[in-house]
Amino acid sequence: MRALLALCAFASTLLAAEPDWKQIDEETLKHYRALVQIDTSGAPNFEAPAVDYLKKVLEADGIPVQIFAKDPKRPNLVARIKGNGTKRPVLIMAHTDVVGVQPEKWSHPPFSAAVDGDFVYGRGTVDDKDNVTAGLMTMLLIKRLNLPLDRDVIFLAEAGEEGTPSIGTQFMAEEHWDAIDAEYCIAEGGSGYNKGGKISRMLVGTTEKLPYTIRMVAHGTSGHGSRPLPDNAIARLSNALSRIAVWEPPMKLNDTTRAYFERLATISTPAEAARYNGILDPGKAPAIQKYFREKEPMHWSMLRTSISPTMLKAGFRVNVIPSEAEATLDVRVAPGEDIPAFVAAMKQVANEPGVEFVLPERSHRILAPPSSITSEMFKTLEAAQKKIYPGAVTIPTMATGASDKVFLQAKGVNSYGIGPLVDEEDAQLGFAAHSDQERLREKELYRFTQFNWEVIRSIAGKH
Ligand SMILES: [Zn+2]
Repeated sequence: MRALLALCAFASTLLAAEPDWKQIDEETLKHYRALVQIDTSGAPNFEAPAVDYLKKVLEADGIPVQIFAKDPKRPNLVARIKGNGTKRPVLIMAHTDVVGVQPEKWSHPPFSAAVDGDFVYGRGTVDDKDNVTAGLMTMLLIKRLNLPLDRDVIFLAEAGEEGTPSIGTQFMAEEHWDAIDAEYCIAEGGSGYNKGGKISRMLVGTTEKLPYTIRMVAHGTSGHGSRPLPDNAIARLSNALSRIAVWEPPMKLNDTTRAYFERLATISTPAEAARYNGILDPGKAPAIQKYFREKEPMHWSMLRTSISPTMLKAGFRVNVIPSEAEATLDVRVAPGEDIPAFVAAMKQVANEPGVEFVLPERSHRILAPPSSITSEMFKTLEAAQKKIYPGAVTIPTMATGASDKVFLQAKGVNSYGIGPLVDEEDAQLGFAAHSDQERLREKELYRFTQFNWEVIRSIAGKH
């Protein structure tokens, strides 16, 4: 009897800490729609009105807020709920800015947050007001349920992720590190995929490539177009470019990309699995690389530092041979790459006289070590995905694009990218992040919020 009573008491404390999800869903949708309706794509208002909104909501529940702004129109918000200090803090990071829109491409006005059928439509619905909302709701729930914490939980709503981190996370990392210093961070940069209505995989972003712009400038003698010259700058540039464009830089794997291909193989067709498992097999690798290059360009890029020529500039009159021709290369550096050695190899491949490589003076991103895939946080994310997304396989991944997590990773914070479950088909239909349109399935907003709560409760709740 006593045991039964104790059991009941135990069960009731557990129940007390379980949010009333039905009620929470309603509130989640209200905040999400309000945040999407605030146009944070740029001038004149930038992120300030979204930060005002978050501040009001957090303070109404008694959660103190701090504002840090390098540019007054572009503030960053930090909220902290204190734990007992047994462990170092955990940080929930999300960005309040969104990319711009071409309104005529939208079936629902881009800042309407229209709910139509199963979906909520609007710029920011999957990048990144989903993470802002889930983080906000987790903070509110911790406070309301009075969740005992072994570590502080910090919420950072950052500005300027879409291209100006110098006023956002970079600024916070460089000038207000004390406010966000943490052992672990969760942020954007992961996602779950539904294929044909079934969960196929949950990607957790643990590392990313460094964008590194190189200009190639070819020099030659200028002259009259009627008298061809052997050192024509345009010809030199195109010779060098065509060699670089077909070059296959050597593979550069890390723990994340190795685990990515291994785990992806377990949920793939036999033909796909043979490719993912055969990357390191010298006999099979050339055919696999060729296949990736043609059919799975993301996988080809994940295996190495990659180069895409993206811009050309040369000549101004049909009868004038220009003395200079210039190409811009979008280089994406893999973690662990030796950049000077890579550039030297690239010059050798170009093998063209009179061509100069102009390196960036200062990249606005940095190359940071990948986050651990054996940490307590990675295991927590995996367990939470199993619970909230039954049947899902968690796969660590490296983004070929860039995010603000690197500024934290460079300071030793193990940072992980997460995201809600979306239909794999949605990207082709033009509804992904940065696409012509953006949308999220309403029920997946709720599930993502539950997931966020589950992760933070597990990693920060008192044990
Ligand atoms: Zn984003």
